[in-house]
Amino acid sequence: MKSEVRVVVIGGGVVGVSVLYHLTRAGWSDILLIERGELTCGSTWHAAGGMHTINGDPNVAKLQQYTINLYQQLEKATGQSCGMHVTGGIMLAGTRERLDWLKMAKARGRYLGMELELISVEEAARLFPLMNKRHFVGALFDPIEGHVDPWGFTQAYAKAAQAQGAELVRHTRVLDLQPRRDGSWDVITERGNVHAEHVVNAAGLWAREVGRLVGLELPILAMEHQYLITEDIPALQGQKEQLHCIDFEGEIYTRQERGGMLLGTYERAGVPWSPVSTPWDFAQSLLPNDLERIAPSLEVGFEHFPALGEVGIRKVVNGPFTFAPDGNPLVGPVRGLRNFWVACGVMAGFSQGGGVGLALSHWMVDGDPGADVWAMDVARYGDWATLAYTNAKVRENYSRRFRIRFPNEELPAARPLRTTPLYEPLKSAHAVFGDYCGLEHALWFAPSAAAAHETVTFHRSNAHEHVAAECRAVRDGAGLLEISSYGKFEVSGAAAAEWLASLMANHVPPVGRIALTPMLNERGKLIGDFTLCRLSSERIFLICTWAAEVYYRRWFERHAAPPGVTVRPCATEYVGLSVAGPRSRALLQALTRTDLASAAFPFLSFRQIDLGMIPALVGRISFTGDLGYEIWVTSDYQRALYELLSEAGRAHGLRLFGARALNAMRIEKSFGTWAREYRPIYGPYEAGLGRFVDLNKGEFVGRTAALAERTSGGALRLTTFSVDAADADASGDEPIWHEGRVVGWVTSGAYGHRVGRSLALGYIPAALAAASGGFEIEIIGERRRATRESCAVFDPDGARMRA
Ligand SMILES: Cc1cc2nc3c(=O)[nH]c(=O)nc-3n(C[C@H](O)[C@H](O)[C@H](O)COP(=O)(O)OP(=O)(O)OC[C@H]3O[C@@H](n4cnc5c(N)ncnc54)[C@H](O)[C@@H]3O)c2cc1C
Repeated sequence: MKSEVRVVVIGGGVVGVSVLYHLTRAGWSDILLIERGELTCGSTWHAAGGMHTINGDPNVAKLQQYTINLYQQLEKATGQSCGMHVTGGIMLAGTRERLDWLKMAKARGRYLGMELELISVEEAARLFPLMNKRHFVGALFDPIEGHVDPWGFTQAYAKAAQAQGAELVRHTRVLDLQPRRDGSWDVITERGNVHAEHVVNAAGLWAREVGRLVGLELPILAMEHQYLITEDIPALQGQKEQLHCIDFEGEIYTRQERGGMLLGTYERAGVPWSPVSTPWDFAQSLLPNDLERIAPSLEVGFEHFPALGEVGIRKVVNGPFTFAPDGNPLVGPVRGLRNFWVACGVMAGFSQGGGVGLALSHWMVDGDPGADVWAMDVARYGDWATLAYTNAKVRENYSRRFRIRFPNEELPAARPLRTTPLYEPLKSAHAVFGDYCGLEHALWFAPSAAAAHETVTFHRSNAHEHVAAECRAVRDGAGLLEISSYGKFEVSGAAAAEWLASLMANHVPPVGRIALTPMLNERGKLIGDFTLCRLSSERIFLICTWAAEVYYRRWFERHAAPPGVTVRPCATEYVGLSVAGPRSRALLQALTRTDLASAAFPFLSFRQIDLGMIPALVGRISFTGDLGYEIWVTSDYQRALYELLSEAGRAHGLRLFGARALNAMRIEKSFGTWAREYRPIYGPYEAGLGRFVDLNKGEFVGRTAALAERTSGGALRLTTFSVDAADADASGDEPIWHEGRVVGWVTSGAYGHRVGRSLALGYIPAALAAASGGFEIEIIGERRRATRESCAVFDPDGARMRA
């Protein structure tokens, strides 16, 4: 074993070898993979090996597509068979809602270039004769699904990597990891030490344990998972290999295995395995079968696919594999640790492992993953994702693996966890809550406690009319919104402004003023949108997206602030309320001696102001696009502030509103938001943020690329559409058609209650940015006429905001 390498990859499962292989492809060969047993001895060896392209996040779906196409390359390069069977796959719908879901999946597949086909039950039964037609209403066919031999696929990666110079040692456990001052690592193993510049934790079932070696508690939990293989089924003899099949209502998947069928299930009462720590003596091992636990699913399976129940069971497999709380992988550099990377929590290693390796290798070699990997970035979780939180969420996610997640659905596990002082008062006001980073926040307000429940649907829900009333209240009078769920940082020190100017695309505002600014990566792509509020020459308050706090902190560490500048995350220290609407100024003015008239406190002002007895930071800004103020206080004052505003608001018809109304109003203003309109695949000019890029202020990260984008105009354009919708609005990821061709995708959609029409934001090619007509947006399988708007549909000149 070498004693000095550039990278040590810990773990020889399908993910570790993929990282190894992709690092060699990216040009690094001085790499060592350390495996404590044999390759595949963790969760990989007993996998069912199924591969599929569909994923809730289109960017992850793209990486899954990449993985599936990789096996041919690997086989060719190494001569090692991956045991690939590209049978095609069929997803069966047993309800109308599931059929709607399949229509939406097909629609999403259109702009990913996937050849998905909606087929009738008759056609499905022709392709997959084992099904009992009686239980189904339709199906989706995907020609590139299949399954691999887990061992063969893993060996192929390893051989290809070794051929490029990578080294691999087996039967050697990594016992400890010690950081050096220069950011490199001493990797302490059973067979001596290795000094490595970088360490990758691809330890699968033991990723938590390896994380703990460096003080990291990764939000990962293994779940037991069972599948069985039937004895030979006579009807299959002499037939073409059966398709992969997912039966959503039965919550089972099935595929052919030699002369029989393999049938697996994600049962509702899933059982975690080793919830606190994973035993080291578990290698090439399985768990005792528990058919009782999956009996309800098997019963449904045998009813839906009778031939499977007519033969005996040849083999049952019960093995553990890991999940993150949302079911997507955890990939990337870890904040607070230099040169420490993770590639774990990969629950579908054969669909996702290739994409994970590809993205991580680019990240390590080029400093950027080269794709939009937000949905699997380890930075999407913060300290709130504790062991117990992860346990509750993973069990929920596992039990819902084949259930529909409706666009308006909030999941109940691990709630309520974080609350602000307004939780009880808002609950008394009949708030329907959602969960954001573990924090309860009001989505909308019902007229009574009995009505404070939302039906989950792809169509407009029972919340529609109440959200409408909230939007009208803001438009015609005043609304009150809790905004505690925004991310916040305080940057202070003599060189605070200078440092921020080097990171942000816009200039840092003068004292007392606010500036909106994108943050760009070196490629000039959007990695954040911030509101900079200048409190004093040396103190700047940043407002941003809370879900991206760890992501931002990691970036701030990479572009370290100079000595004397402190960057302090303070999202939970400052909680807030926003008042918005034409009467909001009069309401606030009644509470302070500070002159709030436009001349004295114009749009984009920021100041410390006493409201009644409460010291607050007040910004004249509002995401609703109406006259409005954001008020920040420490949490001990929030309840008093709420009571003060509510009392004063009575004279102005103040009404509570929630996140749903805010979303509808920001779409009416064509305001984008992080992870929807703003992601690292878009440039600022494409996203309509060009006015917030100050190319004249001097150097900043991404300036050269931004300048190039301004010159070229960029390839895409964020566009607002009015949609001739029926009773369902776009919600995101719908395809945008132009003259019969899919040309783009929706990023957000909602009903715009202030303007009385259905709206969508989405990206289209820049060349179509001026096209006058011919657009359609596909909502639940129906192409709806869409009118391109050349500006925001509500108050396009911003007169109300600035009034
Ligand atoms: C029953 C079952 C069916 C499945 N079916 C499918 C399927 O159809 N399709 C699909 O895509 N996925 C399936 N999976 C999931 C799939 O197996 C996982 O996604 C995949 O194995 C994850 O691979 P990994 O490399 O992350 O982890 P692992 O395979 O667990 O690999 C981690 C490796 O790290 C090594 N290691 C850990 N700690 C150390 C250390 N300190 N020092 C040295 N080495 C260390 C371990 O020995 C292990 O070999 C299934 C899983 C199960 C259990």
